[in-house]
Amino acid sequence: MIEKTPVERDEISERLFKIYTEPNAELLKQVENLVSPNAYELAGYFYNSLLQISESKPYLNHKIVSERLHESLAQWLQDLFGPDDQAAVVNHIKRQRVIGQVHARINVPIKLVNHGIRLLKDKIGDILLESDLGDPQKFHALVLINNLLDYSTSLINESYIIHQLENENETKALRMNMISLSLVVELERLRASLFDWLRRTIVSIFEKYPEKRPALPSVYHSDYGLWAIYKAEFLFSEQPELTMKLQSQLRSTQEIVERINRLQGYETRDELSLAVEALNENVSHAAWLLGDFASRAYEMEAGRDPLTRLFNRRFLPPVMQNMIRTTQVSESMFSLLICDIDEFKTINDQHGHEIGDKAITIFGDFLVSQVRATDYIFRLGGDEFLIVLAGADAETSITVAKKLLNQLAIRQFNLTNGISTSLEMSIGIVEYDGHPDYLHMLNLADKALYKAKETGKNRFFAIQADGPD
Ligand code: GH3
Ligand code: MG
Repeated sequence: MIEKTPVERDEISERLFKIYTEPNAELLKQVENLVSPNAYELAGYFYNSLLQISESKPYLNHKIVSERLHESLAQWLQDLFGPDDQAAVVNHIKRQRVIGQVHARINVPIKLVNHGIRLLKDKIGDILLESDLGDPQKFHALVLINNLLDYSTSLINESYIIHQLENENETKALRMNMISLSLVVELERLRASLFDWLRRTIVSIFEKYPEKRPALPSVYHSDYGLWAIYKAEFLFSEQPELTMKLQSQLRSTQEIVERINRLQGYETRDELSLAVEALNENVSHAAWLLGDFASRAYEMEAGRDPLTRLFNRRFLPPVMQNMIRTTQVSESMFSLLICDIDEFKTINDQHGHEIGDKAITIFGDFLVSQVRATDYIFRLGGDEFLIVLAGADAETSITVAKKLLNQLAIRQFNLTNGISTSLEMSIGIVEYDGHPDYLHMLNLADKALYKAKETGKNRFFAIQADGPD
């Protein structure tokens, strides 16, 4: 009989303890006798099924499976029936948590594991059904194995989520930490080292020209290449367009390097000059892109959107949390207005992205000119802006929204020489309803905006405190 101990007790481990206690012992043994001899085959089935799923590619291949994973899963299956004293159950519970932690560390999508376990359940079910057990025993055995697999997987999932969240927070913190003024300096150094790389490359092309010209080293190994591969995407995950440009720039630099490596002898002199010229141009463009990264780093460090100079989402949590705290203790009120330009895509389509950017900037300036100094304006992304109106209840916000729409209606914005446009927007309004989580309020404002769009655009929609539905 397994004694209960105060260790590791939560709802799920409690249930596992129960399963492993006396009344089940005999049936467990029978199930073990049926399943254990097939454990190795079941593990093979598990991994073969997962290997067919393309999402598993980064984590699984035949070598890793055959050398490391197959054996451990078979062991896991055998251990499922094993614990025969309380220390062993505690160990089993601990092990499931470690499994969750390891999967989070290597970032395997947990749904893959869960999918595999579901398949295993079916297979084990088949084994039990085909066995010599009597019907009532079959039934009990099925329930037992289902529970064992469910509770063990729940432990894995719980621990996975906890560690995954920790990892995400750490990554975020690290990213914020690295995006600082020192990154701007680092980028400047990188630009210098890129030009230095170009100079050394050109020297080495012509040094022993044409006979014994050494092959140029891969640009992927240069400081610039390493930075583009390892750091750019990690640090600038919110600017995928910029990082993609840099990656493709890097690839074309490498192509030119390889082209130069293929050119030999006097007869290729003209081609060589052309390639060197292309390399020069390519590197200048890369340096320009690095400058772009530097100014993004500068803006991000300051928490501002580079286009409009308004706050980006970085300071949304502290501003909202502070508004909520202050409102709770001061009995004043605050409201949110989410403004989204109507039919903005047509500006991009008609005049191009650059002029679209200009329209976004001008629109941001317009909003700034219309609100008070105590209000906050964020660019949430794209053509969507958030105004946090301090001290305003729904009625006041509606007045503000009307004023914004009226003022916008009479403006004509100059985008570039000879091109001007009018703009319209839709506004979602929500008044603080006492909910402590600011995301709740933002969601309501989003819903209100959706309503304003849905009911014809160029208008506002104010949502009642308890939501629209
Ligand atoms: P709706 O009236 O429903 O708001 O439609 P919309 O055309 O304004 O499109 P929507 O608000 O759904 O999406 C905004 C579009 O703005 C999407 C994208 O093409 C464009 N966009 C997003 N960010 C930028 C940017 O930084 N610069 C430019 N030029 N365009 C952007
Ligand atoms: Mg829009």
